[in-house]
Amino acid sequence: MKGTCNCGNVNFEVSGEITKLYQCHCKLCQRQSGSTSNTATMIHESNFKWLNGTDSITHWNKDSGFTSDFCNRCGCPVPNRLRETSYFWIPMGLIDSANAKVVAHICCESKAEWDLVQGDVLILEGMPDSVDSFISSLQSSD
Ligand SMILES: [Zn+2]
Ligand SMILES: [Zn+2]
Repeated sequence: MKGTCNCGNVNFEVSGEITKLYQCHCKLCQRQSGSTSNTATMIHESNFKWLNGTDSITHWNKDSGFTSDFCNRCGCPVPNRLRETSYFWIPMGLIDSANAKVVAHICCESKAEWDLVQGDVLILEGMPDSVDSFISSLQSSD
């Protein structure tokens, strides 16, 4: 499946299925998205390919490790490699369509007063204890 930013300059392709998503409700994700949260998933680098537009990506990193990569023409957040891992963070709004659902909400202690977090899914006050096992839980297709 393919993903693109609003101006169409940054394009990428994900092979295989995307079935599980998470929403991060931390303040950084609220500001970055301009909304309640970022809805995203993690894809192994072997299933991710840039098609076009990487020269239009601006990188911003916070000391904490938070990374915001965005198209410098239209401002859309775009995928970026998760720290030193072999996984890419994929902002799901860029994907054309996927039969996927949100399975976890994280950093809910920081959520906005007007944010509605509900559902019979994993709801965490903070970050997952183990980022590695959280990433693998997003990969399984059960
Ligand atoms: Zn763009
Ligand atoms: Zn966040």
